[in-house]
Amino acid sequence: MTPLDSLAWSNRFATLGPEFFTELHAQGLPDPHWVAQSAACAELLGWPAGWASEPDALQAFSGGATWPGMRPLASVYSGHQFGVWAGQLGDGRALWLGEAETPHGPQELQLKGGGMTPYSRRGDGRAVLRSSIREFLCSEAMAALGVPTTRALCITGSRLPVRRETVETAAIVTRVAPSFIRFGHFEHFAHHDQLEALRRLADFFIAHHAPECADAPEPAVALLRKVALQTADLVAHWQAIGFCHGVMNTDNMSMLGLTLDYGPFGFMDAFDPGHVCNHSDDRGRYAYARQPSVAFWNLHALAQALLPLLPVGTEAETEAATERLLGAVEAFRERFASQMVGRMCAKLGLATADDGDQQLADDFLKLMAASRADFTLSFRCLSRAHTDAEPLRDLFIDRAALDAWLVRWRERAARETGVEARMLATNPAVVLRNHLAEGAIRAAQHGDFSEIDRLLKVLSRPFDEPVLPSDAALPPDWAQTLEVSCSS
Ligand code: AMP
Ligand code: MG
Repeated sequence: MTPLDSLAWSNRFATLGPEFFTELHAQGLPDPHWVAQSAACAELLGWPAGWASEPDALQAFSGGATWPGMRPLASVYSGHQFGVWAGQLGDGRALWLGEAETPHGPQELQLKGGGMTPYSRRGDGRAVLRSSIREFLCSEAMAALGVPTTRALCITGSRLPVRRETVETAAIVTRVAPSFIRFGHFEHFAHHDQLEALRRLADFFIAHHAPECADAPEPAVALLRKVALQTADLVAHWQAIGFCHGVMNTDNMSMLGLTLDYGPFGFMDAFDPGHVCNHSDDRGRYAYARQPSVAFWNLHALAQALLPLLPVGTEAETEAATERLLGAVEAFRERFASQMVGRMCAKLGLATADDGDQQLADDFLKLMAASRADFTLSFRCLSRAHTDAEPLRDLFIDRAALDAWLVRWRERAARETGVEARMLATNPAVVLRNHLAEGAIRAAQHGDFSEIDRLLKVLSRPFDEPVLPSDAALPPDWAQTLEVSCSS
C-alpha cells in the first residue's frame, strides 16, 4: 500500500455529456523515460516525494497506462485565432486524465502530447521535447513569481521522432489546473447554437469554479465580470514582469484567468513596447504593449458567446442584454488600470500610489525603451540604486536623463519606508529568459536533464540572487539570434 493508492480521482467534466468531449486513451510514448519532475507541483497535489517511483507512474505520465480512477478524454472547443473565427479546434494533443482530490481542492491533470484525438486536425498529436521543457519550466517559474498559471508536474520523453522544422523527439508534459476550461469552450457551443449545452457549461462552471455568481440576478453577467477582473489581474501581472504570451487567441484564454498554453512566449530582454515574441505573428497582433487590449477584445468574444444565456426574445431585449454584458467587460478597464498602477508603484518601491506616481513609472519605462534597457535588470538594479546606482546607469545610454529621473524617484521614495526590501521582493532577479531555456533544451537533447533541474530550482526562488551570476545576467551574444517559432 503506497500513499498514492489512496488517491481519489473524480472527473466532473465527464458528467457534462458527450457533446463536450471524446473519451479515448493516449498513444503512449514508446520506451519512455523521465525527463523532469516538479517537487513544488507534487506538493500542491499533496503527493509524497517518491511519487514518480510508484509502479506505473512512468507509464501513466507517458500515456501508456491509466491509474485506477483516471478517465481520459479530449474536449472540444472553438475560438478566434489572430482575430479571426477559426471554427472548431479542441484538445488536439491534450488528454484530460481526471481530477485528483488534493489539499487544495480538485485539480485536473492533463497530458500534453499524448497522441492524436478527433480534434487533431492536421496535427500529429505530439509535442516535442524542446517546447515541453519551455512549458514545464515557465509554468513553474510563473507560479513562483506569483502569476496565476497552470502548473506542470513532470515531463516524460522518448526517442520517437517528431517532424517540425527539423526532426525532433517526442515528450509529454503533465499539466495541472483546477480547470482547463477556455473562452473557446463557450464560443464553441454558442457558435453552433447548442443553447442547452451552452447553459449546461455555464451552470457547470459557475457551480464548480465561480459559485458566488450563482445567486446573482444574472449569473452569466456576474461570471463575465468575474472573468474580466481575473483577466485584468493576469495581464497586469504579465506587463509588470515583461512577459509576452505570444498567442493570445481566445482558445488559449483560461476562464480562471490563468496563464495557459505556453508556446512561443518570451520574457523581454531589451525593453521595447512593440516587442513581438512569436516569429509567426508578423503583424504584431500580440506585441507586449497590445496584450491588455487583446485581452479586452477576447473578453468581447466571450461576451458574445454568453449572450444567448440572457433574455434575447426581442430586439429590445437583445440590445439591453448586450449592454449588460458590455458593462461586465468594461470592468476590465478600471481593474487593469488600478492593478497596473499598483504593480508599477511596487516595482518603484512605493507602498501607496500618489498623484504623479504613474507619470514617474511611465517616464522610467520611456527611458528604458529609449535605451532598449533590459527589462528585468533595469528594475532589479533600480531596487539597489539607493546604495549603488552604477549597475543601473550601465544599462542606459542617456545617463543624464536617467540621473534626472533618479532625483525625482529618490525624492518620492524618501516619503516611504522599506523601499529596497519591497523592490527586491517585487522585481525578480531571475526570469526564464529564452537563452536560459535554450541551454537546458540543448543539454536535454543530448540526454543530459540536469540543467532542467538546476534551472527549476533557481526559478523557484526568483527574488533571490542566484548562485550563478549568469542566471541573472544580460543574454549572451549567441542569444541575440535566437528565434522562437510557433511550432511545438
Ligand atoms: P496552440 O496554438 O498550440 O494553442 O494550438 C491551437 C490548436 O491546435 C489546438 O486545438 C491544439 O490542440 C492544436 N494543435 C497544436 N499542435 C498540435 C499537434 N501537434 N497535433 C494536434 N493538434 C495540435
Ligand atoms: Mg492552445
